[in-house]
Amino acid sequence: MTDTNVDDIPQAHETVYRTFLSGKTRPLAWRRNQIKQLGFLVQDNEDAFCKALEQDLGRPAFETITAELTPIKAEINDVCDHFEKWAKPQKAKTAFSWVAAKPTVYSEPKGVALIIGTWNYPITLLLTPLLGAISAGCTALVKPAEQSPATAALIASLLPKYLDPSAFICILGAVPQATTLLKLRYDHVFYTGSGGVGRIVAKAAAEHLTPVTLELGGKSPAVVLDDANVDVVARRIIWAKFVNAGQICISTDYILTTPAMEPKLIAAMKRALATFSAAPPGEASTSLLQNSAFSRIVNVNHYKRISKLLDGTKGDIVVGGKRDDKENKIEVTIVRNVKGDDTLMSEEIFGPVLPIVTLPDIDSMVRFIQDRETPLALYVFTQSDKKRQYIFERTRSGGFVQNDVLVQFLIPGLPFGGTGQAGYGNYHGRRTFDTFSHERAFASVPTWMDSILALRYPPYTPKKLKML
Ligand code: NAD
Repeated sequence: MTDTNVDDIPQAHETVYRTFLSGKTRPLAWRRNQIKQLGFLVQDNEDAFCKALEQDLGRPAFETITAELTPIKAEINDVCDHFEKWAKPQKAKTAFSWVAAKPTVYSEPKGVALIIGTWNYPITLLLTPLLGAISAGCTALVKPAEQSPATAALIASLLPKYLDPSAFICILGAVPQATTLLKLRYDHVFYTGSGGVGRIVAKAAAEHLTPVTLELGGKSPAVVLDDANVDVVARRIIWAKFVNAGQICISTDYILTTPAMEPKLIAAMKRALATFSAAPPGEASTSLLQNSAFSRIVNVNHYKRISKLLDGTKGDIVVGGKRDDKENKIEVTIVRNVKGDDTLMSEEIFGPVLPIVTLPDIDSMVRFIQDRETPLALYVFTQSDKKRQYIFERTRSGGFVQNDVLVQFLIPGLPFGGTGQAGYGNYHGRRTFDTFSHERAFASVPTWMDSILALRYPPYTPKKLKML
């Protein structure tokens, strides 16, 4: 499939803008139909999605099913079951004197949305915000990431088959298309990706005073305290580096632990990795680089970026370290003895490399986190709720999980989003609907109320002042 011609983008924008103004997308029945269609789009094409991700990332179908298709289907079901309730006008709790004015809050569609997706989870990170736009009654232009071209092409081919093509249009392409899109005016922009591009998006949206959701990244630490269950910790942390080859915005970017815990943790992580690396059925090789269950790095740019971080480290590689230049694969690599100024601590790794920083105590770990940008996720491994709370109360992060990783993305009811440099705004469940809705205040003031309201009109006499 070819990229969208940039000259065609204004017309696509005009189409979805006109459709929104026509009122077509407002009725709840229409929205319900489109939500169901989105569900069918996913359900009917599971194999095609798995194949596309295998092409884009060398990702095994198991991971596409568990980390993308199952979560997006759960989101679609949740929204389908509840959006009519969320969309119901809410009577405002008001003062007695205003009851007669029937103050009400209407959840209204914001209008036309622009949704720009990224490549590491290119289905769910694009279709979940689209689900929000549909359920809220918005129209949308959606741009999948060019770095995962097979998935982008699949989505572009499926969207017009399942959804109303006058309301939802897919734009294929890279920076020229994104730049053209961002010049136009929207009522909400939803962006997932890097902080650098996030700034470009926010600046472009500011030209039109358009509200923005920025789902960005950052360095998310895993704090491992001495009382942690070392085997469980090791499995969970290594899992977050193995899945999608660690190309996850909420992966454990680095470990903070004590000198006493470090050797036990490394030994346990080695064991966990050996178990995870077992050759899949039908495959002979025991090398992770040849293992079809282990994804590759998305492209040569990211491969070179991570390799450079690894080449520059002053730490000691204790596990992994091998790379395959032809396949863009990097083993799960654990590096110990890493200091705060190491190359591995200079930016988000977004790959299967795991530095370990050792610090003497919980207070120095808290300071280490406080001295850096607010992470998207903070993981704390301890059996002590008191110690967990101590860290919780002294740090900031998009999400916080004790004794596990990644689950904040999957647990229904939790908001997903960052703060500080990790972005702003959030979504999932009701919040996805709210993101694309405007709470419109409504009141209908009876004319008979002028007998009371007359007090507000000039002239402002001393008698009126006394009556206030
Ligand atoms: P990226 O930011 O380069 O690309 C993402 C999207 O931005 C693509 O659709 C791309 O076309 C568009 N884009 C690129 N350059 C642009 C420009 N100049 N103007 C307008 N749009 C442009 O992708 P990346 O840097 O490889 O993504 C990795 C980052 O994304 C990591 O920091 C990761 O943590 C973050 N991320 C965050 C989440 C989240 O939900 N918070 C999820 C996945 C990834």
